[in-house]
Amino acid sequence: MAAVEIIAAKRAGGRLAAEQWREFAEAAADGSWSDGQLAALLMAIAVVGLDVEETGWLVEAMAGTGGRIAPERFTRPAVDKHSTGGVGDKASLVVAPLAAACGLDVPMVSGRGLGHTGGTLDKLESIPGMRVTLSIDELVEVVGSAGCAICGASDEIAPADAVLYALRDATATVDSIPLICGSILSKKLAEGIGGLVLDVKCGSGAVFAEDAEAEALAGTLVSAGAAAGLSTVAMLTDMSRPLGETVGNAIEVVEALECLGGKGPGDLRELSLELVARMLVVGGVSPSTREGIDVATRALDAGHGFERFERMVLAQGGDAAVLSDPGRLLGEAEVAVVRATRGGFVRGLNALAIGQAAADLGGSRAGRGGEIDASAGVRIVAGVGSEVSEGDAVLELRSRDPRRLQGAAAAARSSIEIHDEPGVPRGLVLGTIDADSLSEST
Ligand code: URA
Repeated sequence: MAAVEIIAAKRAGGRLAAEQWREFAEAAADGSWSDGQLAALLMAIAVVGLDVEETGWLVEAMAGTGGRIAPERFTRPAVDKHSTGGVGDKASLVVAPLAAACGLDVPMVSGRGLGHTGGTLDKLESIPGMRVTLSIDELVEVVGSAGCAICGASDEIAPADAVLYALRDATATVDSIPLICGSILSKKLAEGIGGLVLDVKCGSGAVFAEDAEAEALAGTLVSAGAAAGLSTVAMLTDMSRPLGETVGNAIEVVEALECLGGKGPGDLRELSLELVARMLVVGGVSPSTREGIDVATRALDAGHGFERFERMVLAQGGDAAVLSDPGRLLGEAEVAVVRATRGGFVRGLNALAIGQAAADLGGSRAGRGGEIDASAGVRIVAGVGSEVSEGDAVLELRSRDPRRLQGAAAAARSSIEIHDEPGVPRGLVLGTIDADSLSEST
């Protein structure tokens, strides 16, 4: 079928067959459709939607555009984690090496910033020399030496996603459940893993702000993952405020290193331990989440996760010397402080507004192909629950470009909610969905 016929059929609300999904995915990977045609079908998918069977075909078609690692190439249970995207979400930088330290192989194929959400690859690239484009053989080699690797989709690994991901960012088609499933699961199938733990974010800074939409995304991801042969668990976690105390690229790497050193903010530590524990259960290394948390906590506090991160950076060509002097990663930047306009308790720090401020400071690509200022970002000085007086610093903004500070300050200021009473913030882990819980609810 010609590209225009496929686009017209979906735009008219029709169902496409497996063969047509293959044509679309292959065209994305080999460039035989124009960007305009790809974007048109992305929009039709986002507007019309896909049923369960079509979503499965899209996942398989996208995965089929690249190679798949044979599971026998890993010596330990291979399990990965993937987030649907959040603000300040640097958990992958902690989770991959920590899970490796606890006995798993983690061949993580990750993403760049999408919309206002940050990207693990952009963060990692703030480490000088760090290569995030690996061939399949290189990915397997890095996992062999470090236990974990983090790279992106490429000509060899889920190439359709490498193209469609950037187009979605430029065409307002990020928040489409079938496109998110195709994007995430095509990368995960290429990895040759046996199990997957998803961190489905929920709240203003997530792709879906509403709980019901995030639950629908989690349910579709779990069933599509299981249908593709992956033992998949989804955690629903809060993203109404940023994770940790930093939002940006280099600034988040520094915070992840603090966490790997046994310090850093409590929410990042808690989430990382919860995710690793579930990975250990999915991989058959721990019998229960409780035991998984104990194993992961001991490894984290003994510095074993940090040591795996160091090995991974070295194996991916990065300058591991900066890890013992992480301040060097931040580079020179202009700084502006956003202050409390009244006294009281910080009740909320809207994640979407802070994500937008970080993007305005130069921390995101803003569409297809833009440049990132690795040193740009936001530091939370007074987090949710803190008591402040009028004029106290709440947020610190950093950018190489002083003109960006003023524009970003407006978004940053709008994120701050101060009340007379501290209030009770919502918990970090909101729920867990796996294939069993899905079958119970049907
Ligand atoms: N992560 C991905 O890889 N793709 C998405 O669409 C969202 C999060």
